[in-house]
Amino acid sequence: MFALEALQANDGDCLLLRYARGRQSDKLILIDGGPRGVFQAALRERLEKLRGGRKLDLRMVMVSHIDADHITGLLDLFKHLIELQDSGEEPPYRIRSLWHNSFEKLAGGRAAAVESAVVGAAVGGAVPAGLDPPVEAVVASVRQGNDLRNYARKLSVPINREVRGELISAPERGRRTIRIDEGLTFTLIGPQEKELNKLEDSWKAAKTAAQATPEAIAADYLNRTVPNLSSIVVLAEMADGAGREPKRMLLTGDAGGDLMLEGLEDAGLLKDGGIHVDLLKVQHHGSSHSVAQDFFERVTAGHYVISGNGKHGNPHGKTLEWLSAARAGQAYDAYLTNRQGEEGLTEVLDRFLQTESRSQPLHRYHFRRDDAPSIGVEL
Ligand SMILES: [Zn+2]
Repeated sequence: MFALEALQANDGDCLLLRYARGRQSDKLILIDGGPRGVFQAALRERLEKLRGGRKLDLRMVMVSHIDADHITGLLDLFKHLIELQDSGEEPPYRIRSLWHNSFEKLAGGRAAAVESAVVGAAVGGAVPAGLDPPVEAVVASVRQGNDLRNYARKLSVPINREVRGELISAPERGRRTIRIDEGLTFTLIGPQEKELNKLEDSWKAAKTAAQATPEAIAADYLNRTVPNLSSIVVLAEMADGAGREPKRMLLTGDAGGDLMLEGLEDAGLLKDGGIHVDLLKVQHHGSSHSVAQDFFERVTAGHYVISGNGKHGNPHGKTLEWLSAARAGQAYDAYLTNRQGEEGLTEVLDRFLQTESRSQPLHRYHFRRDDAPSIGVEL
C-alpha cells in the first residue's frame, strides 16, 4: 500500500504519506502542516480519525521548508504535544523522526552570516528593523524554523537522524538514497549541495551591487537564499515485497522545476532526459513561476496532486494548461484540494475544465469534497 493524501491546507501544503508492506497495518509520514489554522481545522481531525483511540505512530514528520504555509501547522502540532507532556498527559502521537533543514544549518557558518549583522541576526531568528515586507516574512519564517527545532528537542524527537543530524541534501555527485522503513526509501533530489555551495557567490554578488546599503545587501541575499534552496525534494519509492516494480512518488515542496531537473539528472534518474513516476506532487501549489511545460514533458506521472485554494493565483490556469499540453492524448488523473476558491479560482477552473472535457477526455480531474478534510490517491 502506498498512498498520498492532501489535506485541506488552504494556500499551503499538508500531506500524509501512507504505506504498508504486505499485510502490515498502515504506517504514516506527515509532510508539512499548512498555514495557520490547518492543524485545528483539518490535520488534528484526520490524525484523530486515523488514531482511533490508540497511540498513533508517525514514522517521520518532514518540513519541506520553513515558509509559513508549510511549517505553521507542524508548530501547532508540536505545541499541542508539549502542552500535553507538560500537563502529564499521555501524548496521542509518537514522532520517531523529524526532517527539518534549519536556516542556521543552511546558511549559519557561511560568509554572509559572519560578515552581515542583518543576516547573522536572521540566522538566530531575530527580525531586524527596516526590512522590506517580503524579506521580513522570510526572516520571520526562520524564527518559526528555530521554534520547531526547540519543540522537537523538548519532545525528544531526533532531527535529521537518518543523516546523523546533518543537512538533508542531495550530494554533488551520485545518488543519496536513505532507507526509511522496510520497503520504503527516499532518494534526495534537493536541496543540492552544489546550490548550497553557490551561496558564497550569491553573497559576493549581493555585496557588489552598486550603492547597496548593508540592509539592502542582506535583503537581496536572504530573499534569494531561503525560498530557492531550502525545499527538501524526495523521490519516495515503495517496494511491496511481491517482486513488482516499486511505486514512485516525487514530493517537491515549493522547489523550482529547473533545480529539480538538475537534481534528477545528477542522481542519474533521467532517461532520455525524462522520468516517469506514479505520482507527482506538483511543486509550489501549481504556481506558474515554478514550472514550465518542458518540466511536465520531462517529468510525467500517472497521478498529479495539487494543493492550493486560489490565493496568489495558485494553481495558475497556465500551469494546468501546460500540464494538459505536455500530456495531450495521454491518460492521467489530477487531484486538487479545492474546486472553489479565492482570486478567481472557481472561474479559472470552470473555463479550463470545460475545454479539457472536450479536447482531452483522457485527463481526469478529482476534487476534495467540501465536507472532507482531504483528498487522497492510493497507487
Ligand atoms: Zn508553499
